[in-house]
Amino acid sequence: MDMLIVGLDGATFDIIRPLVHKGKLPHLQRLIETGTSASLRSTLPPVTAPAWSSFMTGTNPGKHGIFQWRTYDPTKYTCVDESVVTAARLVGTTFWDMLGSHGFKVGILTVPVTYPPWPVNGFMLSGYPCPDARKNYTYPSVYADSLSESYNFSADYYLGASEEEIWSNGLEMLRKRTSLAMELISEENLDVCVLVLGEIDRAQHDFWKYRDPSFPAYHSEKGRTFRHVIAEHYEVSDAQVGRLLELASEETTVIVMSDHGAGPHPPTYFHTNSWLKSLGLLEMRPYRPDPFVGGLRRGLEIVRSILPFEEQVRRMLPAGVVDRARRITLNISNVDWSRTKAYRFPMYHPAEGIEINLRGRQPQGVVEPGADYEEVRDRIIGQLRQAKDPLTGIHIVEEVYKREDIYSGPYLEIAPDIVFVTSSRFRAEREIGQDYVVPVPLKQLETYNGLHQMDGIFIARGRNIKAASTFEGARIMDVAPTVLYTMGLPVPEEMDGRVLVDAFLPSHVEAQPPEYSDVPVQAEGADLSLSPEDERAMRDKLRGLGYLS
Ligand SMILES: [Zn+2]
Repeated sequence: MDMLIVGLDGATFDIIRPLVHKGKLPHLQRLIETGTSASLRSTLPPVTAPAWSSFMTGTNPGKHGIFQWRTYDPTKYTCVDESVVTAARLVGTTFWDMLGSHGFKVGILTVPVTYPPWPVNGFMLSGYPCPDARKNYTYPSVYADSLSESYNFSADYYLGASEEEIWSNGLEMLRKRTSLAMELISEENLDVCVLVLGEIDRAQHDFWKYRDPSFPAYHSEKGRTFRHVIAEHYEVSDAQVGRLLELASEETTVIVMSDHGAGPHPPTYFHTNSWLKSLGLLEMRPYRPDPFVGGLRRGLEIVRSILPFEEQVRRMLPAGVVDRARRITLNISNVDWSRTKAYRFPMYHPAEGIEINLRGRQPQGVVEPGADYEEVRDRIIGQLRQAKDPLTGIHIVEEVYKREDIYSGPYLEIAPDIVFVTSSRFRAEREIGQDYVVPVPLKQLETYNGLHQMDGIFIARGRNIKAASTFEGARIMDVAPTVLYTMGLPVPEEMDGRVLVDAFLPSHVEAQPPEYSDVPVQAEGADLSLSPEDERAMRDKLRGLGYLS
């Protein structure tokens, strides 16, 4: 095997370093000591779907088209169309397609956004989201019967499962997926194996509140039972890396990485629309009780008590009602669009968007394209840089960008006009009409306790890779070019990422500098379109896992 890539979804050095220090992660420790490591900056937003899409294509979301679990649609005030992203929406060619076309045998296991599977030179088992019905998750499909259901998350399972079950299931899934990868590596004689393990991310979302006694929603009684669940997921993941390393030789390049980091839910909300209202950029209509709202809420409660998924409710409703329901969830049903210049475009923590209400794009746009648009956008960016918590004076925003500063490609147009990253004490949220900075209610912190962070991990060890070194500036879209370079192939110019040359021995880079090729990459010919039933099943699944609002 030439190359082994293990993706630990959501893994962060903030947890790895102290565990390494205690000697709890011997295999990762050895990789760090005999190889090189770096923080790996995620996509904006740092969400599993766009991040792993940038990993596999080496491109930014503006090029591969995936920004979230749903597709952005700036022509709607709800900011999304209602379809769920799949491999069918992913634009571009993956590095394993390129490796395959050069004759390398690849095994691609449970990488997110690879359903439906497509032909590869080797084997593929799709990662989530996948529909739950008995569908084909594998290429070649001969494996489907034996593998399909058991290697993916089940929303039904998470809905009905106790915390103890989620805990033990996560650990079991880590072992099971690794065993499958080991079987394939040995039996299929793979050159390159990519395995993504999603369990650390799940554990961090569900168990952060039990981990840290200083967290406001820390539960001391349950904390005794669950305090080490996240650490245990890292330790078991480390053991799986160890099992896989037994199949690697000194010649094998090993990469352990994550798609984003993780951290506790911040203690404070920043209500973006309230803030825009305070600047006179967003206006509300006089309050009118909407009988639809009360009726819809009551109706949803009744139906939810019968059906587990809101998605199942949605599919029974006409499109207009779904749109109104989403406006209510986003709290924008009373916005006076004819007097509003800018509004919130929800992304995912810690990223947040702001959209200009542009004439000709938005249904009731008021800002003229051109100079007016730029003036409003510059004014908001200036105000965001200065935005502070009125009580503490702490800066709310850490980074702020025009969309063209961070995205390029055919999908730039669907990105929010402004993208910003909140500082660690703030999470952007949806209320309008109250203070724009408010403490997060304890009840919320009990539900949402672990969230994503921008920095994931990158650890590499191999023949031409530096030992016991660290470097900076690595981004998730740099991984695909780095893989191609390691395998001796040129990097297509259309990849936005660059080879992480700092990871390699200078003598090697000098003798064999990266080659960039302007030959267009062959697009995938396979038809990956989904049936409406599949797409609905996938939405159910994502919602059940808490990824969709
Ligand atoms: Zn993730």
